Amino acid sequence: MMRPPLGVETGEYRIKPPLVKPSRLSSKGSGKDLSQGWAVNFTIGCTHACPFCYVSSIWEKNGRVKGRWGDYLLLPSNLEEAIKETDWGRWVGEEVLMSSTHDPYLPQLADGARKILEAGLSAGVRFCIQTRSPLASRDIPLMVRFREQVRLQISIATLNPEFARIIEPRVPSPESRLRLLEKAADAGLRTGVIIAPVFPPTDLRPDWIEDLEAIFERLAVIKPDMVFGECLHVRGSNLSLLADKGVQVDRRMLYVFDGQAGAVFQQLLQKHGLKGVWWYEYRRAYDGKTGQYTGPTSSPLYEKPMKLVDEGVVERITDERFGCVYRLRKQ
Ligand code: SF4
Repeated sequence: MMRPPLGVETGEYRIKPPLVKPSRLSSKGSGKDLSQGWAVNFTIGCTHACPFCYVSSIWEKNGRVKGRWGDYLLLPSNLEEAIKETDWGRWVGEEVLMSSTHDPYLPQLADGARKILEAGLSAGVRFCIQTRSPLASRDIPLMVRFREQVRLQISIATLNPEFARIIEPRVPSPESRLRLLEKAADAGLRTGVIIAPVFPPTDLRPDWIEDLEAIFERLAVIKPDMVFGECLHVRGSNLSLLADKGVQVDRRMLYVFDGQAGAVFQQLLQKHGLKGVWWYEYRRAYDGKTGQYTGPTSSPLYEKPMKLVDEGVVERITDERFGCVYRLRKQ
C-alpha cells in the first residue's frame, strides 16, 4: 500500500456489507443529481485534507473523529470480502455515487476503487465517480468497457495555484484534474464537473469572477456533459479550519454571495453553451441587473443584503462584466 502523507495516522476498521448504502445525494434527496440515492464509501477520513470539507462534520456528529480532519485514515481490513458479500444484482441499472464521504482515488484506495468498479459494473450497476484525483485515469480503460454505466466527474474549486495550495493542500493540481477530465471526454466517457466550493473574495484570490471565468474557459474546450456549482457552505468547524490557514470567511457574506455567484455561474454556462446547475444553499436566485433576490429563502439575512451593507459588512459595487455584486468591506 502507498504510504500516507507525513503526519497522517492510519488504522483499520471492518466495513459492513453491502458496500452500497442509501445516500441523500440524488435529485429526490438533497436535489443534487449525483446518484439514484445510493453511495459506496470505503474509508473513514480523507487525506486530501481540504479545510472547507463538509464531510468532517458528519464524523464529528457520530463521534468517529480520530484527529484533525485530513490527518487520519481508517482503511477497511475486509474490503475484498465485503465486495464479494455485496449482492450487486440488487442495484442493477441503479446509479451509485462513488464516493460521498472521501475521494475514492486517494493513492491508498485506488486499488480498492478498481475492484469495486469491476464487481459492480460487470453486474450491471451504474456509477457516478466523483474525484479530485488524476489517479482515476488508470481506470479509464475499464470505464470505457462499461461506458453506458459510467459518468466520471471531477471537483475543482479554483484555478489560482496559490489559493489551491491552501484550500486543497494535498490534492493534485487543478490542472492535473482538468487533464483527467479531458482524457475521459476524449475516451468517450460521460463527464461532469462540480465547481466547488466557490469562495467569496478572499485576500489571496480577490477576483472570484475572474477565477470562475478562467475555469469556464477551460471547460468550454473540454465540453463536459454537465457542470454543477455551489458556493462555500458552512459545515461543522470548516470556517475555523479555514481561518487557521489564514482564509477568513465571514459567514454573513455567504448569504449574499450564494445568489450572485449562482447568477454569474448561469451566465457563464450560457456564454459557453454548457449545461449545468447551481446548487443554491439558501434557495434564492439573484438578478445581477437589478440587484434583487427572487424566490423563497431559508435565511432571514439572505433577503436583506442591504442590512449587511448598512452594518458595513459588505459593500455593493458594479462589476462591468456581471452587473451589481457585493463584496466584503475591508475592516
Ligand atoms: S477531497 Fe473531498 S472528501 Fe476529501 S477532503 Fe477534499 S472535499 Fe473532503
